[in-house]
Amino acid sequence: MPLLVMKFGGTSVADLDRIKNAAEKVRREVERGYNVIVIVSAMSGKTNELVGWVEKTSPLYDAREYDAVVSSGENVTAGLMALTLQEMDVPARSWQGWQVPINTTSAHAAARFVSIPSENIDAKFNEGMKVAVIAGFQGLSPEGRITTLGRGGSDTTAVAFAAAFGAERCDIYTDVDGIYTTDPRITEKARKLDKIAFEEMLELASLGAKVLQTRSVELAMRYNVRLRVLSSFEDTDENSGTLVCSEEEIMESKVVSGVAYSRDEAKMTLLSVADRPGIAAAVFGPLAEAGVNVDMIVQNISEEGRTDITFSCPVNQVARAEQAVKKAHDAGHINFHELVADTDVAKVSVVGIGMRSHAGVASAMFKALSAEGINIKVISTSEIKISVLIDRKYMELAVQALHDAFGLDKAA
Ligand code: ADP
Ligand code: ASP
Ligand code: MG
Repeated sequence: MPLLVMKFGGTSVADLDRIKNAAEKVRREVERGYNVIVIVSAMSGKTNELVGWVEKTSPLYDAREYDAVVSSGENVTAGLMALTLQEMDVPARSWQGWQVPINTTSAHAAARFVSIPSENIDAKFNEGMKVAVIAGFQGLSPEGRITTLGRGGSDTTAVAFAAAFGAERCDIYTDVDGIYTTDPRITEKARKLDKIAFEEMLELASLGAKVLQTRSVELAMRYNVRLRVLSSFEDTDENSGTLVCSEEEIMESKVVSGVAYSRDEAKMTLLSVADRPGIAAAVFGPLAEAGVNVDMIVQNISEEGRTDITFSCPVNQVARAEQAVKKAHDAGHINFHELVADTDVAKVSVVGIGMRSHAGVASAMFKALSAEGINIKVISTSEIKISVLIDRKYMELAVQALHDAFGLDKAA
Protein backbone atom coordinates (compact mmCIF):
# COMPACT_ATOMS: atom_id res chain seq x y z
CA MET A 1 0.00 0.00 0.00
CA PRO A 2 1.43 3.47 -0.88
CA LEU A 3 2.42 5.56 2.12
CA LEU A 4 2.44 9.30 2.81
CA VAL A 5 3.95 11.25 5.67
CA MET A 6 1.91 14.32 6.70
CA LYS A 7 3.31 16.69 9.34
CA PHE A 8 1.22 19.32 11.10
CA GLY A 9 2.99 22.17 12.89
CA GLY A 10 1.89 24.00 16.03
CA THR A 11 -0.59 26.45 14.50
CA SER A 12 -2.14 23.59 12.50
CA VAL A 13 -3.01 21.74 15.75
CA ALA A 14 -3.50 24.82 17.96
CA ASP A 15 -6.96 23.77 19.21
CA LEU A 16 -9.50 21.00 18.79
CA ASP A 17 -11.08 22.57 15.67
CA ARG A 18 -7.72 22.83 13.96
CA ILE A 19 -6.91 19.23 14.87
CA LYS A 20 -10.19 18.29 13.24
CA ASN A 21 -9.29 20.31 10.15
CA ALA A 22 -5.92 18.54 9.94
CA ALA A 23 -7.57 15.14 10.49
CA GLU A 24 -9.90 15.89 7.54
CA LYS A 25 -6.86 16.31 5.32
CA VAL A 26 -5.53 12.98 6.56
CA ARG A 27 -8.86 11.27 5.96
CA ARG A 28 -8.87 12.52 2.36
CA GLU A 29 -5.52 10.84 1.72
CA VAL A 30 -6.74 7.60 3.34
CA GLU A 31 -9.76 7.72 1.00
CA ARG A 32 -7.35 8.10 -1.93
CA GLY A 33 -5.82 4.77 -0.91
CA TYR A 34 -2.84 5.80 1.19
CA ASN A 35 -1.64 4.57 4.54
CA VAL A 36 -0.52 7.67 6.40
CA ILE A 37 2.06 8.44 9.05
CA VAL A 38 1.06 11.70 10.73
CA ILE A 39 3.65 13.67 12.68
CA VAL A 40 2.32 16.29 15.07
CA SER A 41 3.89 19.24 16.86
CA ALA A 42 2.70 20.58 20.19
CA MET A 43 -0.13 23.13 20.11
CA SER A 44 1.33 26.51 19.14
CA GLY A 45 2.86 28.34 22.09
CA LYS A 46 2.98 25.18 24.21
CA THR A 47 6.68 24.40 23.73
CA ASN A 48 7.60 28.03 24.49
CA GLU A 49 5.57 27.85 27.66
CA LEU A 50 7.28 24.61 28.72
CA VAL A 51 10.74 26.06 27.96
CA GLY A 52 9.81 29.13 30.03
CA TRP A 53 8.85 26.96 33.00
CA VAL A 54 12.15 25.08 32.81
CA GLU A 55 14.23 28.29 32.58
CA LYS A 56 12.36 29.86 35.47
CA THR A 57 12.86 26.80 37.64
CA SER A 58 16.53 26.30 36.78
CA PRO A 59 18.36 28.88 34.60
CA LEU A 60 21.33 26.58 33.88
CA TYR A 61 19.09 23.52 33.70
CA ASP A 62 20.01 19.84 33.39
CA ALA A 63 19.24 19.12 29.73
CA ARG A 64 17.82 15.67 30.53
CA GLU A 65 15.06 17.23 32.60
CA TYR A 66 14.57 20.01 30.02
CA ASP A 67 13.80 17.27 27.48
CA ALA A 68 11.47 15.45 29.90
CA VAL A 69 9.37 18.60 30.25
CA VAL A 70 9.65 20.15 26.81
CA SER A 71 8.80 16.97 24.87
CA SER A 72 5.44 16.64 26.60
CA GLY A 73 3.45 19.03 24.38
CA GLU A 74 3.60 16.57 21.48
CA ASN A 75 2.22 13.71 23.62
CA VAL A 76 -1.07 15.58 23.99
CA THR A 77 -1.56 16.39 20.30
CA ALA A 78 -0.61 12.87 19.19
CA GLY A 79 -3.31 11.31 21.36
CA LEU A 80 -5.87 13.94 20.39
CA MET A 81 -5.15 13.47 16.68
CA ALA A 82 -5.60 9.67 16.98
CA LEU A 83 -8.88 10.17 18.86
CA THR A 84 -10.14 12.70 16.29
CA LEU A 85 -9.41 10.27 13.45
CA GLN A 86 -11.11 7.42 15.30
CA GLU A 87 -14.20 9.65 15.70
CA MET A 88 -14.15 9.96 11.88
CA ASP A 89 -14.05 6.14 11.59
CA VAL A 90 -10.45 6.21 10.41
CA PRO A 91 -8.48 3.45 12.19
CA ALA A 92 -5.65 5.31 13.92
CA ARG A 93 -3.20 4.77 16.78
CA SER A 94 -0.66 7.11 18.42
CA TRP A 95 2.97 6.52 19.39
CA GLN A 96 5.25 8.56 21.60
CA GLY A 97 8.93 8.52 20.64
CA TRP A 98 9.97 5.88 23.19
CA GLN A 99 7.20 3.52 22.08
CA VAL A 100 8.36 3.26 18.44
CA PRO A 101 11.18 3.46 19.64
CA ILE A 102 12.79 6.44 17.90
CA ASN A 103 16.41 5.81 18.87
CA THR A 104 18.58 8.91 19.06
CA THR A 105 21.94 10.01 20.39
CA SER A 106 22.06 11.26 23.97
CA ALA A 107 22.77 14.89 22.96
CA HIS A 108 19.87 16.28 24.94
CA ALA A 109 17.96 19.19 23.34
CA ALA A 110 19.87 18.55 20.10
CA ALA A 111 19.61 14.77 19.64
CA ARG A 112 20.09 13.05 16.29
CA PHE A 113 18.38 9.96 14.93
CA VAL A 114 20.18 6.66 15.18
CA SER A 115 17.41 4.31 14.01
CA ILE A 116 13.66 4.04 13.63
CA PRO A 117 12.58 0.38 13.69
CA SER A 118 9.45 -0.08 11.60
CA GLU A 119 8.16 -3.41 13.02
CA ASN A 120 5.68 -2.07 15.58
CA ILE A 121 4.00 0.30 13.18
CA ASP A 122 4.10 -2.04 10.17
CA ALA A 123 2.44 -4.77 12.26
CA LYS A 124 -0.48 -2.41 12.98
CA PHE A 125 -0.75 -1.36 9.31
CA ASN A 126 -0.94 -5.07 8.46
CA GLU A 127 -3.82 -5.45 10.93
CA GLY A 128 -5.82 -2.74 9.13
CA MET A 129 -4.73 0.45 10.89
CA LYS A 130 -4.70 3.30 8.36
CA VAL A 131 -2.97 6.08 10.25
CA ALA A 132 -0.02 6.01 12.65
CA VAL A 133 0.20 9.27 14.60
CA ILE A 134 3.68 10.02 15.92
CA ALA A 135 4.59 12.64 18.53
CA GLY A 136 7.17 14.76 16.71
CA PHE A 137 10.35 16.30 18.13
CA GLN A 138 11.17 13.48 20.58
CA GLY A 139 13.21 10.31 20.86
CA LEU A 140 14.92 7.89 23.22
CA SER A 141 18.60 7.96 24.22
CA PRO A 142 20.77 4.84 24.61
CA GLU A 143 20.48 5.47 28.37
CA GLY A 144 16.72 5.10 28.13
CA ARG A 145 15.92 8.78 28.64
CA ILE A 146 13.62 11.02 26.59
CA THR A 147 15.45 13.31 24.15
CA THR A 148 14.37 16.19 21.91
CA LEU A 149 15.71 17.14 18.50
CA GLY A 150 16.07 20.92 18.89
CA ARG A 151 13.41 23.55 18.20
CA GLY A 152 11.39 22.86 15.08
CA GLY A 153 12.40 19.20 15.33
CA SER A 154 9.06 17.76 14.23
CA ASP A 155 10.02 18.59 10.64
CA THR A 156 12.99 16.28 11.08
CA THR A 157 10.85 13.56 12.64
CA ALA A 158 8.66 13.74 9.53
CA VAL A 159 11.51 13.43 7.05
CA ALA A 160 13.15 10.64 9.07
CA PHE A 161 9.92 8.63 9.02
CA ALA A 162 9.48 9.27 5.30
CA ALA A 163 12.98 7.89 4.71
CA ALA A 164 12.61 4.95 7.12
CA PHE A 165 9.25 3.84 5.69
CA GLY A 166 9.93 4.69 2.04
CA ALA A 167 7.04 7.18 1.83
CA GLU A 168 5.98 8.50 -1.55
CA ARG A 169 6.19 12.08 -0.22
CA CYS A 170 6.71 14.04 2.98
CA ASP A 171 4.18 16.87 3.21
CA ILE A 172 4.85 19.58 5.81
CA TYR A 173 1.58 21.38 6.54
CA THR A 174 2.03 24.79 8.13
CA ASP A 175 0.57 28.31 8.45
CA VAL A 176 2.02 29.61 5.16
CA ASP A 177 1.28 28.14 1.74
CA GLY A 178 4.89 27.41 0.82
CA ILE A 179 8.48 28.59 0.98
CA TYR A 180 8.96 32.24 0.06
CA THR A 181 11.91 34.38 -1.03
CA THR A 182 11.90 35.62 2.56
CA ASP A 183 9.60 35.37 5.57
CA PRO A 184 6.25 36.68 4.23
CA ARG A 185 5.63 38.20 7.68
CA ILE A 186 8.50 40.66 7.14
CA THR A 187 7.59 41.92 3.68
CA GLU A 188 4.46 41.48 1.62
CA LYS A 189 6.69 41.57 -1.44
CA ALA A 190 7.97 38.08 -0.54
CA ARG A 191 7.25 35.72 -3.44
CA LYS A 192 6.25 32.09 -3.17
CA LEU A 193 8.59 29.65 -4.89
CA ASP A 194 7.29 26.57 -6.73
CA LYS A 195 10.58 24.79 -6.13
CA ILE A 196 13.73 25.39 -4.16
CA ALA A 197 17.04 23.50 -4.26
CA PHE A 198 18.06 21.42 -1.23
CA GLU A 199 21.31 23.38 -0.88
CA GLU A 200 19.54 26.74 -0.82
CA MET A 201 16.89 25.60 1.63
CA LEU A 202 19.62 24.13 3.81
CA GLU A 203 21.37 27.51 4.01
CA LEU A 204 18.13 29.47 4.50
CA ALA A 205 17.06 27.13 7.29
CA SER A 206 20.42 27.19 9.05
CA LEU A 207 20.44 31.00 8.81
CA GLY A 208 17.10 31.29 10.54
CA ALA A 209 14.21 30.61 8.09
CA LYS A 210 12.25 28.49 10.51
CA VAL A 211 9.78 27.16 7.95
CA LEU A 212 11.87 23.94 7.95
CA GLN A 213 14.35 22.70 10.54
CA THR A 214 17.84 22.52 9.01
CA ARG A 215 18.35 18.87 9.87
CA SER A 216 15.12 17.93 8.07
CA VAL A 217 16.48 19.38 4.83
CA GLU A 218 19.79 17.59 5.35
CA LEU A 219 18.02 14.25 5.80
CA ALA A 220 15.72 14.84 2.82
CA MET A 221 18.75 15.58 0.65
CA ARG A 222 20.66 12.53 1.88
CA TYR A 223 17.77 10.07 1.49
CA ASN A 224 16.18 11.73 -1.53
CA VAL A 225 12.85 12.32 0.19
CA ARG A 226 10.28 14.28 -1.84
CA LEU A 227 9.75 17.12 0.61
CA ARG A 228 6.96 19.66 0.25
CA VAL A 229 5.73 22.64 2.31
CA LEU A 230 2.05 23.61 2.02
CA SER A 231 -0.84 25.25 3.85
CA SER A 232 -2.97 23.41 6.37
CA PHE A 233 -5.64 26.12 6.10
CA GLU A 234 -6.32 26.00 2.35
CA ASP A 235 -7.58 23.33 0.00
CA THR A 236 -4.52 21.62 -1.36
CA ASP A 237 -3.72 19.06 -4.04
CA GLU A 238 -0.59 17.34 -5.32
CA ASN A 239 0.60 20.56 -7.01
CA SER A 240 0.22 22.88 -4.01
CA GLY A 241 3.00 24.43 -2.01
CA THR A 242 6.74 24.41 -2.59
CA LEU A 243 8.80 21.35 -3.47
CA VAL A 244 12.33 21.08 -2.07
CA CYS A 245 14.30 19.22 -4.73
CA SER A 246 17.64 18.85 -6.47
CA GLU A 247 19.20 21.80 -8.30
CA GLU A 248 18.70 20.11 -11.70
CA GLU A 249 14.90 20.17 -11.35
CA ILE A 250 14.84 23.98 -11.10
CA MET A 251 14.40 26.39 -13.98
CA GLU A 252 14.68 29.67 -12.10
CA SER A 253 18.24 30.91 -11.84
CA LYS A 254 18.74 33.98 -9.73
CA VAL A 255 22.06 34.90 -8.18
CA VAL A 256 20.35 35.49 -4.85
CA SER A 257 17.25 33.42 -4.20
CA GLY A 258 16.35 34.24 -0.63
CA VAL A 259 16.91 36.40 2.44
CA ALA A 260 16.93 34.89 5.93
CA TYR A 261 17.23 36.40 9.38
CA SER A 262 17.87 35.29 12.89
CA ARG A 263 16.48 37.76 15.40
CA ASP A 264 17.89 36.61 18.72
CA GLU A 265 21.65 36.76 18.37
CA ALA A 266 24.30 38.06 20.72
CA LYS A 267 27.79 39.37 20.02
CA MET A 268 30.40 38.66 22.67
CA THR A 269 33.86 40.24 22.68
CA LEU A 270 36.85 39.22 24.75
CA LEU A 271 38.93 42.38 25.07
CA SER A 272 42.69 42.20 25.22
CA VAL A 273 43.27 38.46 25.17
CA ALA A 274 46.87 37.25 25.43
CA ASP A 275 47.65 36.30 21.82
CA ARG A 276 49.56 33.02 21.68
CA PRO A 277 49.29 29.69 19.85
CA GLY A 278 46.37 27.67 21.18
CA ILE A 279 44.36 30.65 22.38
CA ALA A 280 41.42 30.01 20.02
CA ALA A 281 41.23 26.41 21.22
CA ALA A 282 41.40 27.58 24.83
CA VAL A 283 38.43 29.94 24.26
CA PHE A 284 36.21 27.86 22.00
CA GLY A 285 36.87 24.45 23.57
CA PRO A 286 35.12 25.34 26.85
CA LEU A 287 32.31 27.09 24.92
CA ALA A 288 31.67 23.92 22.92
CA GLU A 289 31.75 21.81 26.08
CA ALA A 290 29.17 24.12 27.65
CA GLY A 291 26.88 23.54 24.65
CA VAL A 292 27.19 27.08 23.25
CA ASN A 293 26.51 27.23 19.51
CA VAL A 294 29.17 29.65 18.35
CA ASP A 295 28.44 31.03 14.90
CA MET A 296 30.58 33.89 13.57
CA ILE A 297 34.14 34.40 14.83
CA VAL A 298 36.45 37.37 14.27
CA GLN A 299 39.92 37.88 15.66
CA ASN A 300 41.37 41.37 15.41
CA ILE A 301 44.94 42.26 14.58
CA SER A 302 47.34 41.66 17.38
CA GLU A 303 49.14 44.49 19.15
CA GLU A 304 51.87 44.00 21.70
CA GLY A 305 50.95 40.37 22.15
CA ARG A 306 47.27 41.03 22.84
CA THR A 307 44.17 40.89 20.64
CA ASP A 308 40.35 41.06 20.75
CA ILE A 309 38.22 38.02 19.87
CA THR A 310 34.56 38.47 18.89
CA PHE A 311 32.02 35.70 18.42
CA SER A 312 28.27 35.42 18.06
CA CYS A 313 25.86 32.93 19.62
CA PRO A 314 22.12 32.70 20.32
CA VAL A 315 21.11 35.31 22.86
CA ASN A 316 19.67 32.72 25.25
CA GLN A 317 23.12 31.12 25.54
CA VAL A 318 24.88 34.27 26.76
CA ALA A 319 24.77 33.24 30.44
CA ARG A 320 26.21 29.84 29.58
CA ALA A 321 28.92 31.43 27.38
CA GLU A 322 29.90 33.93 30.09
CA GLN A 323 30.13 31.19 32.68
CA ALA A 324 32.31 29.00 30.42
CA VAL A 325 34.70 31.80 29.47
CA LYS A 326 35.03 33.11 33.04
CA LYS A 327 35.73 29.62 34.32
CA ALA A 328 38.53 29.22 31.76
CA HIS A 329 39.88 32.64 32.82
CA ASP A 330 39.80 31.80 36.53
CA ALA A 331 41.54 28.49 35.85
CA GLY A 332 44.34 30.43 34.11
CA HIS A 333 43.71 28.86 30.67
CA ILE A 334 42.91 32.20 29.07
CA ASN A 335 43.67 35.71 30.13
CA PHE A 336 41.61 38.73 29.05
CA HIS A 337 40.77 42.18 30.42
CA GLU A 338 37.02 42.31 29.84
CA LEU A 339 34.11 40.36 28.38
CA VAL A 340 31.54 42.56 26.63
CA ALA A 341 28.14 41.16 25.57
CA ASP A 342 25.95 42.97 23.04
CA THR A 343 22.56 41.25 23.29
CA ASP A 344 20.72 43.52 20.82
CA VAL A 345 21.91 42.15 17.51
CA ALA A 346 20.34 40.15 14.68
CA LYS A 347 21.80 38.30 11.72
CA VAL A 348 20.60 38.91 8.17
CA SER A 349 21.79 36.74 5.28
CA VAL A 350 21.40 36.47 1.52
CA VAL A 351 21.52 33.01 -0.06
CA GLY A 352 21.81 31.72 -3.61
CA ILE A 353 23.59 28.97 -5.49
CA GLY A 354 24.15 31.51 -8.30
CA MET A 355 26.72 33.21 -6.04
CA ARG A 356 29.16 30.42 -6.87
CA SER A 357 29.65 31.91 -10.32
CA HIS A 358 28.83 35.60 -9.75
CA ALA A 359 31.02 38.23 -8.15
CA GLY A 360 29.72 41.47 -6.66
CA VAL A 361 26.98 40.13 -4.38
CA ALA A 362 28.78 41.22 -1.22
CA SER A 363 29.31 44.78 -2.46
CA ALA A 364 25.66 45.03 -3.62
CA MET A 365 24.56 43.82 -0.19
CA PHE A 366 26.76 46.30 1.71
CA LYS A 367 25.64 49.14 -0.56
CA ALA A 368 21.94 48.37 0.05
CA LEU A 369 22.50 48.33 3.83
CA SER A 370 24.53 51.53 3.84
CA ALA A 371 21.80 53.29 1.80
CA GLU A 372 19.52 52.62 4.77
CA GLY A 373 22.13 53.83 7.25
CA ILE A 374 22.55 50.36 8.75
CA ASN A 375 25.92 49.67 10.35
CA ILE A 376 27.44 46.20 9.87
CA LYS A 377 29.07 44.74 12.99
CA VAL A 378 30.37 41.37 11.77
CA ILE A 379 30.45 39.76 8.31
CA SER A 380 30.79 36.10 7.36
CA THR A 381 30.62 34.42 3.98
CA SER A 382 30.52 30.97 2.44
CA GLU A 383 30.20 29.73 -1.14
CA ILE A 384 26.47 30.44 -1.37
CA LYS A 385 25.69 32.94 1.40
CA ILE A 386 26.72 36.23 2.98
CA SER A 387 25.67 37.06 6.54
CA VAL A 388 25.94 40.25 8.53
CA LEU A 389 25.34 41.03 12.18
CA ILE A 390 23.47 44.32 12.72
CA ASP A 391 21.51 46.10 15.46
CA ARG A 392 18.28 44.17 16.03
CA LYS A 393 16.10 47.27 15.58
CA TYR A 394 17.13 47.44 11.89
CA MET A 395 16.44 43.78 11.14
CA GLU A 396 13.11 44.15 9.29
CA LEU A 397 14.41 47.16 7.37
CA ALA A 398 17.52 45.23 6.32
CA VAL A 399 15.50 42.24 5.10
CA GLN A 400 13.20 44.51 3.08
CA ALA A 401 16.09 46.52 1.62
CA LEU A 402 17.95 43.36 0.54
CA HIS A 403 14.81 41.77 -0.88
CA ASP A 404 14.36 44.89 -3.03
CA ALA A 405 18.03 45.24 -3.92
CA PHE A 406 18.22 41.72 -5.35
CA GLY A 407 14.85 41.98 -7.16
CA LEU A 408 13.39 38.99 -5.34
CA ASP A 409 9.80 40.18 -5.78
CA LYS A 410 10.14 39.51 -9.49
CA ALA A 411 10.31 36.08 -11.10
CA ALA A 412 13.58 35.34 -12.93
P1 ADP B 1 5.08 25.18 12.22
O1 ADP B 1 4.56 25.49 13.58
O2 ADP B 1 4.02 24.76 11.26
O3 ADP B 1 6.25 24.26 12.24
P2 ADP B 1 6.86 27.42 11.93
O4 ADP B 1 6.42 28.65 12.65
O5 ADP B 1 7.93 26.61 12.53
O6 ADP B 1 5.57 26.56 11.61
O7 ADP B 1 7.32 27.81 10.44
C1 ADP B 1 6.46 28.55 9.61
C2 ADP B 1 6.83 30.02 9.65
O8 ADP B 1 8.12 30.19 9.05
C3 ADP B 1 5.95 30.92 8.83
O9 ADP B 1 4.83 31.33 9.57
C4 ADP B 1 6.87 32.09 8.48
O10 ADP B 1 6.66 33.22 9.31
C5 ADP B 1 8.28 31.55 8.77
N1 ADP B 1 9.20 31.72 7.65
C6 ADP B 1 10.47 32.19 7.77
N2 ADP B 1 11.07 32.24 6.58
C7 ADP B 1 10.18 31.78 5.67
C8 ADP B 1 10.23 31.59 4.25
N3 ADP B 1 11.33 31.87 3.54
N4 ADP B 1 9.12 31.09 3.64
C9 ADP B 1 8.03 30.78 4.35
N5 ADP B 1 7.92 30.95 5.69
C10 ADP B 1 8.99 31.44 6.36
N1 ASP C 1 7.11 21.80 19.35
C1 ASP C 1 8.50 21.88 19.02
C2 ASP C 1 8.93 23.33 18.88
O1 ASP C 1 8.11 24.23 19.04
C3 ASP C 1 8.83 21.08 17.78
C4 ASP C 1 8.14 21.54 16.52
O2 ASP C 1 7.11 22.21 16.56
O3 ASP C 1 8.65 21.19 15.45
O4 ASP C 1 10.07 23.58 18.65
MG1 MG D 1 8.30 24.55 12.69
